[in-house]
Amino acid sequence: MTSQSRPPATVQCPNCGKPVPWVTAERWRPFCSERCRLIDLGHWATEHWRIGGEPASPEDQQPD
Ligand SMILES: [Zn+2]
Repeated sequence: MTSQSRPPATVQCPNCGKPVPWVTAERWRPFCSERCRLIDLGHWATEHWRIGGEPASPEDQQPD
């Protein structure tokens, strides 16, 4: 079986779910844009802070 004219592979942006063509031109893949990439990385960093640490107790929360 040969498929010479298949559509380009696409991935979903991990941040917004937008389809992103998996091509060299998409420099931020698998993200659709630099913004989504930064947002996702920031989100991941935040989650990383929560994971491995103890749940924040009310005493630790210092109101501004
Ligand atoms: Zn996106």
